[in-house]
Amino acid sequence: MSFEDKSPEKIIVQVAIDSPLNQLFDYAWHEDFATAPQKGQIVQVSFGRQECIGVVMQVLDKTDYDLEKIKKVQAIAPLQPISSDVMAMAEFAAIYYQRPIGEVLIPSIPKMWRQKNKWELLGKEKRLSKTSAATKNTKAQPGNEISLNEEQLFIVEKLWNQSISKKFSCNLLQGITGSGKTLTYLRWLKKILDDDESQVMIMVPEINLTPQLESSVEQAFPGKKLVVMHSGITDRTRADNWEKAHSGKAQIILGTRMAVATSAPNLKAIVVDEEHDLSYKQQEGVRYSARDLAVWRGKKLNIPVVLASATPSLETWFHAQEKRYEILSLKERAAKNAKPPLIQILDLKQEQKAGKKNEHGISEYLLNELQKNIEQGRQSIIYINRRGYSPVLNCQACGWLSDCVKCSAHMVLHKITEQKKNLCCHHCGVMRPVQKVCPDCGNTDLSPLGKGTQKIEEFLSERFPKAKILRIDADTTRTKGSAESLFSEIHDGDADIIVGTQMIAKGHDYQSVSLVGVIDADASLFSQDFRASERLFAQLMQVAGRAGRSEEAGESKVIIQTNYPEASPYKYLRHADVDGFLEEIKNERQLVGLPPFSYQALVHGEHKTLVQAIDMLKDASQLAKSDKIWPANAMLSDVIPRAMVRIAGKERAQMLVESESRQDLQKSIEILQHYLTEAHTKRKGVGWYIERDPISI
Ligand code: ADP
Ligand code: ZN
Ligand code: ZN
Repeated sequence: MSFEDKSPEKIIVQVAIDSPLNQLFDYAWHEDFATAPQKGQIVQVSFGRQECIGVVMQVLDKTDYDLEKIKKVQAIAPLQPISSDVMAMAEFAAIYYQRPIGEVLIPSIPKMWRQKNKWELLGKEKRLSKTSAATKNTKAQPGNEISLNEEQLFIVEKLWNQSISKKFSCNLLQGITGSGKTLTYLRWLKKILDDDESQVMIMVPEINLTPQLESSVEQAFPGKKLVVMHSGITDRTRADNWEKAHSGKAQIILGTRMAVATSAPNLKAIVVDEEHDLSYKQQEGVRYSARDLAVWRGKKLNIPVVLASATPSLETWFHAQEKRYEILSLKERAAKNAKPPLIQILDLKQEQKAGKKNEHGISEYLLNELQKNIEQGRQSIIYINRRGYSPVLNCQACGWLSDCVKCSAHMVLHKITEQKKNLCCHHCGVMRPVQKVCPDCGNTDLSPLGKGTQKIEEFLSERFPKAKILRIDADTTRTKGSAESLFSEIHDGDADIIVGTQMIAKGHDYQSVSLVGVIDADASLFSQDFRASERLFAQLMQVAGRAGRSEEAGESKVIIQTNYPEASPYKYLRHADVDGFLEEIKNERQLVGLPPFSYQALVHGEHKTLVQAIDMLKDASQLAKSDKIWPANAMLSDVIPRAMVRIAGKERAQMLVESESRQDLQKSIEILQHYLTEAHTKRKGVGWYIERDPISI
């Protein structure tokens, strides 16, 4: 059927709309439209009493509804249809993550393209109010003149051959921080971009923490147009950038997880940098893994995908061991004279036995090393992954703790000014001034227990009064530009000690840090989450990787304090033995059948009362298990309260679905979806969702 030989009012389009209803909606193509409908077109329709945008999913010549009553499509966005690979990926994700297609697809379109009254404005050239990032930055070129070493050249060649063969391949680019991974994939992409039509995508965890990134990537590709896609840009910029990628005007798309669904007609390569990073997993709405979707998209397009990391996720590493992914490894630090740091695991129990003091949890040994480093004019990092002053306030008389009334968590003490402290819940955001007396017993002697970044900062500035100390955590980097100015102070050498959370660990190329001290990392050894040790290892490797990045840093040292030096993350950290560590946890998981040796989905239920949440999941579970099509291979756990049972006044329950077969897991969650919907009609107040491939259990 062609558009020309049909009377236009008979053409029906099925449209995806952002609605919780799991269906498409039929509309008639408007007889006044000059163009025929196409899959992927963005259209405006009326829906209920509102007007909204939708995406054409199918073009039909009939409908089950009354043709007379069917509404017409009101307008077509002045854009090409969304690229077919993105359409296919959205359809796949809708099934895989068990969400309506509209909920998957529509939010991936920038907000202003979702508002018809903005379409005209978006068509117009924006006045250039700001200079672009590249001209704003006057700093050195990011190594355009550097000659690659042999390992790097070999990898570029290998990737380039994959590009030429126009076949899908997934590559794990593995190498310690500073081994030259970034420069390697940039050089490969540059070869691809010699063809003016080609587009490439680079995904990174969090752009706002690496302000130099945009300009350094831009400078790596002179004469090419780069656009960014992340949550830190305005709606207008996001709409413009998306359009540039979508129309093929931009060759490089650099962004966070949201970038994965950017429509791009000539995409020839996808890089996911720091592929193990948890921020690739969306934690609300459609809970997708952008890394996994990137691999899917690459496969669909028959193009190479590169997953880069110093500490790959076990899933990715295992794929590579099993030869499903290619391993490309870089073994040495690339920059001239940059030496990997000496990693010391400091046994705090031994220290104590030997009568050595520690102050605020920092050992005498580490304090002496700090002192020496400051005297030599070198920079040091103290890593503590907890922001605030103290994790909890305590009454020594009766044992009262500053618990949040809405969450099963302590409220954290924060220093606001020298005199003033607040209590703040990191889960629901509630904040209040510190009380003077214990609410339970009236005692006035309330004291902070434990330490966070603020307390360590306070202590270190008393201990080293001449040193310049900077603190980097979510509190000091909240306002726009603050992270940028803190990081440039570090780069300019204006800091002797940097106290920070894991924010300091990400991707920063500090040139003169030669001492890293890790205090208080043991807590995660006791987490019930089976991925906790993998995460701890990755985090500490990342932090350790900040030391000794250049000749300037000289001999560098990483000191990790612990009460459990034999715990496996520390055992392997000593020799920075990433493969050894991954091999060990792989064997552990294999023994008990955890991912990647099984596939999981977590069913969540939440309600004001725990019993309601639990009962709703139990109802669905019983129905699902007694259905004769329930796969024998799929295991459904008991319904249990979540480890952190209450957040913001909601009680939370969960049950885990597990199977060794991906297909059987898929079948079982489709069955569950059905019965959860049914069970929900009886307990309407209970919120629920299914999370595929959960990363914390
Ligand atoms: P990674 O991404 O593995 O952390 P980068 O690509 O950022 O590593 O490289 C780390 C540092 O080494 C950068 O300053 C980079 O310019 C430099 N570098 C990379 N490759 C080379 C090389 N072949 N020769 C000299 N310096 C290099
Ligand atoms: Zn008390
Ligand atoms: Zn709370």
